[in-house]
Amino acid sequence: MTPLLTEPGRVTRESLAEYREAGGYRGLAEARARVDGRAWVLGQVRRAGLRGRGGSGEGRPVAATWARVARATSPVRYVIANGAETSPASRKDRHLLSLYPHRVLEGLLIAAHAVGAAEVFLYIRNDADEALASAEAALGEARAAGLLEGVAVRVQPAAPSAVVGEASAVVDALEGLEGLPQPKSAPLESIGLRGEPTVVTNVETLAAAAGVLRLGPEQFLAQGVADCPGTALFTVSGDVAAPGVYEVAYGTPLRELLRMAGAPPAGELLAVLPGGLGSGPLRPDELDVRLTYEALIEIGSSLGPAAVVVIALDRTTLPNLAAETSAYLAAGSCGQCNGCRESLGQVAQAFGAGDPGRARQWAEVALYGRGNCAHPTGAARFALRLLQAFPEVWSK
Ligand code: SF4
Repeated sequence: MTPLLTEPGRVTRESLAEYREAGGYRGLAEARARVDGRAWVLGQVRRAGLRGRGGSGEGRPVAATWARVARATSPVRYVIANGAETSPASRKDRHLLSLYPHRVLEGLLIAAHAVGAAEVFLYIRNDADEALASAEAALGEARAAGLLEGVAVRVQPAAPSAVVGEASAVVDALEGLEGLPQPKSAPLESIGLRGEPTVVTNVETLAAAAGVLRLGPEQFLAQGVADCPGTALFTVSGDVAAPGVYEVAYGTPLRELLRMAGAPPAGELLAVLPGGLGSGPLRPDELDVRLTYEALIEIGSSLGPAAVVVIALDRTTLPNLAAETSAYLAAGSCGQCNGCRESLGQVAQAFGAGDPGRARQWAEVALYGRGNCAHPTGAARFALRLLQAFPEVWSK
């Protein structure tokens, strides 16, 4: 696997000089120099098959989202780099911002050029001290080197909560409000920040976009799988010898990633959550699943923010995992949508009382109930897959 986003062994922040040495900011320069610069960026990103790496785990095609804002009739557009990273199991965005801030910043400036934005934001959780300091330092270096070319870039610290990274919550927070997910009357690409067309893109997605322009789409297409090309950053945590952030190609078997992180053999595992706490748990005999959005959804789980949590047999029991995780997810509901608040609370209560039948009923309500964000969907997926994939536990 050839890394496209990181450098093996790097432990200190990549400076502007180092990044430039590796070809950094040449893609941005070419985009700005070309007469067809905007169309060229969108074309390169589309050819590379770049998909969004945010916590929703949907992997939406990036070029299509950017193109919608590029085509907007309003002359005022915004781009927000989303580094809120709200999943407790994810560290990849902080890792990227701490060590490779220029890759994110170049991606942000490329996105700004592609959609015609003159004001952009780097939205980073406020307890991520190293990431914030690194982003500010990179911004200072880029400004001094004349790389901003009139684009106003602001680093905006975000108060962490379970939902503050949701795209409409990011916009809400940047407007000085509470940072809560909003009803989806229109896509943010039409009516976003201050009522104007807005792109909200995960920081890893932006670093990958910079990589596409620096290395060429072919380098991305040469790795991963046809509908999910390139590489991605996975945070591996829990019962492993070497927890951390790993760059692997999409389509890599989960078993291979677990081997890299020093996970115990399958016989010593209780379960693996491939996409953070709001994803469906996998059985130890399902580790050959490939790490793509579609492969995980097909078996009732999800890639989420690519945060893999490994749980050993001697750590806990499945009923305890169900009770503790569903209580955590219920506490993460911001409470503004009735269906979410009540159903997640009921799922947690039912698991806590050892009543899996009632937990299933309320999880189905959470799955199909309407809310302003995907938080209840993730919580319901966790509960329903736990019940469906481990029937021997619940039939006792
Ligand atoms: S669905 Fe739940 S977490 Fe999302 S906005 Fe509504 S109450 Fe908050």
